[in-house]
Amino acid sequence: MSAVGLTRGAEALSAFSHSFGAAAPEQAIVAACQHLRDRIKQARLPDSITGYLDAYGIMAEFAPIASDSRLDVRDGRYVILVRGEGSLAKSQFDVATASNRQRFSVAHELGHLLLIESLGTDTEKIRALADPDVWERVESLCDLAASALLIPLEQLIQHVRSYGIGVLSIISLASAAGVSREVVLRRFVSTGARASVLWRVRRVPSRREVVVSAAQVFTAGEGFPLRRWDPGRCVRPNIALRAAVATSRWSRSARALVSKGARVWPMSVIAAAESSSEVPPGILVDLLALEDRPPELRGEILRAHADLDSIVFSLFFDGDSNQDPLWLAAINGCKAASSARQESLEPNLAMHQSRYVL
Ligand SMILES: [Zn+2]
Repeated sequence: MSAVGLTRGAEALSAFSHSFGAAAPEQAIVAACQHLRDRIKQARLPDSITGYLDAYGIMAEFAPIASDSRLDVRDGRYVILVRGEGSLAKSQFDVATASNRQRFSVAHELGHLLLIESLGTDTEKIRALADPDVWERVESLCDLAASALLIPLEQLIQHVRSYGIGVLSIISLASAAGVSREVVLRRFVSTGARASVLWRVRRVPSRREVVVSAAQVFTAGEGFPLRRWDPGRCVRPNIALRAAVATSRWSRSARALVSKGARVWPMSVIAAAESSSEVPPGILVDLLALEDRPPELRGEILRAHADLDSIVFSLFFDGDSNQDPLWLAAINGCKAASSARQESLEPNLAMHQSRYVL
């Protein structure tokens, strides 16, 4: 511990934040990504992973390593290794033929480089980034960087402004940007949202109840209170439920309260719902993060979710988000998406007849 009570790892992260004039490393890493993008624009390099690698003059190649990827040093230079066995090993990484996962891995390692670069020649601080007490946070910072590098801000805002933030919009953005859906979910929190949360809304006809619970929670930084499987009633108004029952299929509140235990956080929330029948079943399983279960269980899992009524995606912002470009784009896009679908939508009577579990 140092004189101010920070561990060496925490000191390194604080120096990183400081180098971008940011309050937290999560903001600093987003600024670092933007800075890199500005640099490649000036150098007239392509705004892509290839351009970023060129900007650093760094190679990425396949190697038979145990992890997805690793930053290595060879002849005094950094090199990014991506897992690849057999004939792939030692061949050069090619963005065009790489899988989404491999592209993410390379972008993640670029995140490590951004951190290292900002600490300059302070090797002690660079080494401290690998300390166990900050390791997990550093990894999540690099995931944030990867999502920010793979989906340019302009592309994200424009997509959200046109198609809203529902699951179908997320699916189409993921395929347009050539990234996984999880990367899109993470991208929202590197764009100003405090958290992005995917909710499942289940109908329990035997009890004439509707049960809302968080299926996925991605956050920027620490302190966001919601966790996976928390009930929708932790947010007042219960915004996920509201979106699910609204004819327009979306809802927002600039004065929402998120409460856990005795603590209450004032936040702005916007949520968009899709009925489970609108989303392809395979994607539904993945979105609910059930892909870590053995494949033979997937059918069973889907049957267990037969009572799934809607899947709701929501964005949380700290306090009043009135001027936040992502918030404004999301409102615009949700309105546009809802009016485009208006004819096909019926008021969700079954839901209205249910007794809500709030
Ligand atoms: Zn890493």
